[in-house]
Amino acid sequence: MGGEDRPRKKIRVDQSKDKKATPAGNGTDAANPYLAHRNKLPTLVPHKTTSEQAEAYEDAENNLFTGRPFTPKYREILKKRRNLPVHKQRDEFLELVHNNQVIILVGETGSGKTTQIPQFLVYDEQPQMKGKLIACTQPRRVAAMSVAKRVAEELDVSLGEEVGYSIRFEDCTSPRTVLKYMTDGMLLREAMHDPLLERYSAVVLDEAHERTLSTDILMGLIKEICKRRTDLKVVVMSATLDAGKFQKYFNDAPLLVVPGRTFPVEIYYTPEPERDYLEAAVRTVIQIHTCEEPGDILVFLTGEEEIEDACRKIRAEIDSIIQASPQTVGDVKVVALYSSLPPAQQQRIFDDPPPPRFPGGPAGRKIVVSTNIAETSLTIDGIVYVIDPGFSKQKVYNPRIRVESLLVSPISRASAQQRSGRAGRTRPGKCFRLYTEKAFLKDLQEQTYPEILRCNLGTVVLQLKKLGIDDLVHFDFMDPPAPETLMRALELLNYLEALDDDGNLTTVGEQMADFPLDPQFCKALLSSPKYKCSNEILSIIAMLSAPNCFIRPNDQRRQADEAKSQFTHQDGDHLTLLNVFHAYKSKEGDQSWCYQNYLNQRSLKNADNVRTQLVRIMERRGLELVSTPFESKKYYENIRMALTAGFFMQVAHLERTGHYLTSKDNQVVQLHPSCGLDNKPEWVIYNEFVLTTKNYIRTCTSVRGEWLLEVAPAYYDLEN
Ligand code: ADP
Ligand code: MG
Repeated sequence: MGGEDRPRKKIRVDQSKDKKATPAGNGTDAANPYLAHRNKLPTLVPHKTTSEQAEAYEDAENNLFTGRPFTPKYREILKKRRNLPVHKQRDEFLELVHNNQVIILVGETGSGKTTQIPQFLVYDEQPQMKGKLIACTQPRRVAAMSVAKRVAEELDVSLGEEVGYSIRFEDCTSPRTVLKYMTDGMLLREAMHDPLLERYSAVVLDEAHERTLSTDILMGLIKEICKRRTDLKVVVMSATLDAGKFQKYFNDAPLLVVPGRTFPVEIYYTPEPERDYLEAAVRTVIQIHTCEEPGDILVFLTGEEEIEDACRKIRAEIDSIIQASPQTVGDVKVVALYSSLPPAQQQRIFDDPPPPRFPGGPAGRKIVVSTNIAETSLTIDGIVYVIDPGFSKQKVYNPRIRVESLLVSPISRASAQQRSGRAGRTRPGKCFRLYTEKAFLKDLQEQTYPEILRCNLGTVVLQLKKLGIDDLVHFDFMDPPAPETLMRALELLNYLEALDDDGNLTTVGEQMADFPLDPQFCKALLSSPKYKCSNEILSIIAMLSAPNCFIRPNDQRRQADEAKSQFTHQDGDHLTLLNVFHAYKSKEGDQSWCYQNYLNQRSLKNADNVRTQLVRIMERRGLELVSTPFESKKYYENIRMALTAGFFMQVAHLERTGHYLTSKDNQVVQLHPSCGLDNKPEWVIYNEFVLTTKNYIRTCTSVRGEWLLEVAPAYYDLEN
């Protein structure tokens, strides 16, 4: 099992008697904080561990990574970890990893893949000894943060030290970090500067079944990297059983299946389609709470607004039922889970349900109302009832109008199955599907489409080019995008001057790839120094990258709109956002000021953070941070021109008929009701195309026709 028969990797552990001798390695020992407490470590074993040897580290008196004695809490959690299904297969896993470069691992949600497998690798690889790290990618920011926090506890280290995370606009790691949970997008960004991922000794691609764009590209890249770095270990993990496709893609990589520990789940369908799934979901929660056995409830909804709304309704209804019959109905703890929730509140999903109100009284219940995050990324123990309305927000790209939008769309059958599985984690459960059985069988797709087939490829192309991949058509994608979509993306980048006419990355393109932003945003930002307004464009882009900051409660719409009107700029919503940001900064982010003005303090804080990150990239790139004097007549005009430089392909023109027509494909559109433009300007740029009952354009700013000719002479021409 020690892999005696294989050539050994470079040794990084000094086994001689002299503990102070320098181990062979990359010569960074002075900087390696682990060596400071080497003499406190348990007997060091060769780098390829059996589970027995690895467990000796875990059971030792002192923590291998900090040198400190383990806490009692650590030992308590360790006991739980050893009960997880993956634990039984630790030896099998290690043997596969020792004998193969890539392995595929499939297991039920909750079997311990995300939290345990990277730790198995940490003990086995001991990446710190060669100054390397282990990466574990997650499609979702929330999962990366939450899992890193949990694993830091499991290893008895502080979050951000030995175990950290890295997500867009936030890096919570240190030089001591050996295990880094990160979004797949972040690892992809790192690959631009570290094309062979040499910082890592192993990469775990988690939730591969989600087939996010970044994971798909990473798989293609890593397949290439593996040829050149035989020392790199790769584990591809997935929750569904469609492992064959992954195995085949990775040249028949071996498969490890972790048998799930699941209990039967009874599935119920509604006899008739539900008209209002939110209302139906709330009703079902109440029914379960008043009629069913104890056990927590998980409700899947699509986004923040819906979730908060549902939580309020559930709380209100249950409160009034409890008042009416306090003897028979237990307390509830209703918790929301969505990605823009602050981390401390995200943790509340792991709280215990409330206790009975009096001895022998009715049991309390936890009710989690969540987006797709709870489908496979995060496991919540104790869930017995799942309510699945059958929808989620999905990125949809319409290549004809080249607009990408997040739309509430029906989930796939595979997703529905995952959701119902969440009810059977700890004991038999029930899943209430708020759609008919016929709809499940006939209307739902088998699998969710890979994101690469549904998105704007602009960012992707830029990233691939920056990664040095020129021949996009022959890049080894698991599911290659349609050539037409690729061509469209190339065309967009060519208009934005990121690619030259031969398809090579220009200086602008190189700079664009440095920013974690859409190409249009990048272009506006890169043009802004020229228009003497980079400070302002930074603020606007930061505001657009954060969740919507305007709060508009149903029962206080008038007051909310009045509050918003103080900030409204008649020339455009982008300028309104700038006004809000400036006001927020001048009030130093005051909470009650935000509250009084119907502004979401959290999203403003978020925007402020994003801005700080972007400023750093600007500075690193030597891009000028400038403003036009506020007194100047040109102040707002310059900002609008810089925006035009990025968004000249998202322009609508007012026709004589009184409609707007998009200039790229003559779609009839209307200004969104939230738009603050007081007259109908002839030309507007827009940030978003919203498809509901009508075609709306949202976040609009008026521009001038002659600016379009100036900033995009290759795209616009004067009509004769
Ligand atoms: P998988 O990736 O296979 O879905 P995980 O490794 O995420 O499984 O979770 C394994 C188990 O660890 C869960 O079933 C749960 O018991 C426990 N766990 C994970 N995160 C937390 C947390 N934040 N708090 C408490 N327990 C947790
Ligand atoms: Mg997982």
